Amino acid sequence: MHTLPSIGHLIDGQLVNGGSRSQDVFNPATGKAEKRLQLADRATVERALASAQAAYPAWRATPVLKRARVMSKLKVLLEENADQICALLTAEHGKVVGDALGELQRGIENVEYASYAPELLKGEHSRNVGPTIDSWSEFQPLGVTAGITPFNFPVMVPLWMWPMAVACGNTFVLKPSERDPSSAMLVAELALQAGLPPGVLNVVNGDKEAVDTLLTDKRVQAISFVGSTPIAEYIYATGCAHGKRVQALGGAKNHAVVMPDADIANAVSALMGAAYGSCGERCMAIPLVVAVGDATADAVVAGLKVEIAKMKVGPGVDASNDMGPLVTKPHFEKVKGYVDQGVLEGATLVVDGRGVKVAGHENGYFLGACLFDHVKPGMTIYQEEIFGPVLGVVRVKSLADAMDLINAHEYGNGTCIFTRDGEAARYFTDHILVGMVGVNVPLPVPVAYHSFGGWKRSLFGDLSAYGPDAVRFYTKRKTITQRWPSAGVREGAVFSFPSNR
Ligand code: NAD
Repeated sequence: MHTLPSIGHLIDGQLVNGGSRSQDVFNPATGKAEKRLQLADRATVERALASAQAAYPAWRATPVLKRARVMSKLKVLLEENADQICALLTAEHGKVVGDALGELQRGIENVEYASYAPELLKGEHSRNVGPTIDSWSEFQPLGVTAGITPFNFPVMVPLWMWPMAVACGNTFVLKPSERDPSSAMLVAELALQAGLPPGVLNVVNGDKEAVDTLLTDKRVQAISFVGSTPIAEYIYATGCAHGKRVQALGGAKNHAVVMPDADIANAVSALMGAAYGSCGERCMAIPLVVAVGDATADAVVAGLKVEIAKMKVGPGVDASNDMGPLVTKPHFEKVKGYVDQGVLEGATLVVDGRGVKVAGHENGYFLGACLFDHVKPGMTIYQEEIFGPVLGVVRVKSLADAMDLINAHEYGNGTCIFTRDGEAARYFTDHILVGMVGVNVPLPVPVAYHSFGGWKRSLFGDLSAYGPDAVRFYTKRKTITQRWPSAGVREGAVFSFPSNR
């Protein structure tokens, strides 16, 4: 029997085996198992934690400029190895290579931002806060930190986390998605080449057993999580109950409002990419259009129908394709089930992608673009995150109605408005209960030097991911107040509370 290549873990700078359980990693374009992933048991994760703990004192003491320089070198290595990283990404996730390059580039920008650590970690200093007293705040690392990441951005989301964590002086244990782990492993190997000392970054592959070990082990000081909302909630509750600092980013259901005055042709183009790019498997994807007025809805639906007919669906390795397969067979079945459910619940299926066949890839998990009209709140396809190429159009009468819908939804990750009316756009951005908002920008994913985070049940915790919030998340503020009295000055005891009264 042909044995599949086995993927283990990266611990203490070495590729190692660990755990008696394993599972297949599939190529979603072919439906074939191509690798076998070892699933870390508690002992394997504990090995990684021991390595991270041992590496911490020397890494914390390493001057921040030297830590940052590793990030600068890593940036270059990521650029030099982009094709190989993206090939792995496409082979396991399925996304089209051009999209994979976009993901990697956004990840690289986080590495670049982490290389500014000497500037970002400068403290705050106040001279003479009292007689001969100076005071300053500094930002100290936490110790061993950990990250648990989703399948949909297997390169970028880990790069939201560990580069800033380690640039701040922490050590890190990463648990990538078990569905597409190889690209994050390759990036970690490149980090070693860039000069990251063994143990500063460890990667354990696995599932719930590995995650639960990270959540409960005393050595872990902070956990960053990105994934679905039920798991985010579990991670937040369990991590907090074990005394850890936790940020847990969850799912989404992002609405795009199209106003009657919008440039409809441009809005339609923007919606195509936002709804169907990466097969809809983005937490910032647009699965819902809220059209203000029937004439707007009719024009948007007509425009989308024309554009969908031009779309090319096929394997991600062919750069001319617009959309690749869904990530796994179960996910394919789940998304298809949502389309069935939408029909049953009475939405109008304008474009049905369920019958799509890709020649030579009959066992791939391909679903064509689906478009529903007359989607209504309360329908399953309105309420739940589908995470597939399924776009629904909801018809409302006014901007106020559109905003009420968005504000009532349980998720608050991203949203956008298409309009030419500055007043409407300003009102929208001011009052909408969503963390990331676009005006004529369908995917308002903040750049690396801002922070990324939704509201409501899209984020559990106080600080967003990457950007300035990440510097705060991966450090503790310490405030030092220091006095050097003049020699020979004798001071009596003071019993009142020290102040500048
Ligand atoms: P997921 O929640 O299934 O898995 C995420 C991680 O959690 C994986 O590493 C997985 O191994 C682990 N995990 C899964 N079940 C677990 C359990 N029972 N106990 C402990 N750990 C468990 O998410 P996914 O399917 O990989 O990713 C898609 C989801 O991620 C979508 O809901 C999407 O919206 C969300 N997402 C959110 C953001 C954001 O920034 N808000 C970004 C990307 C993806």
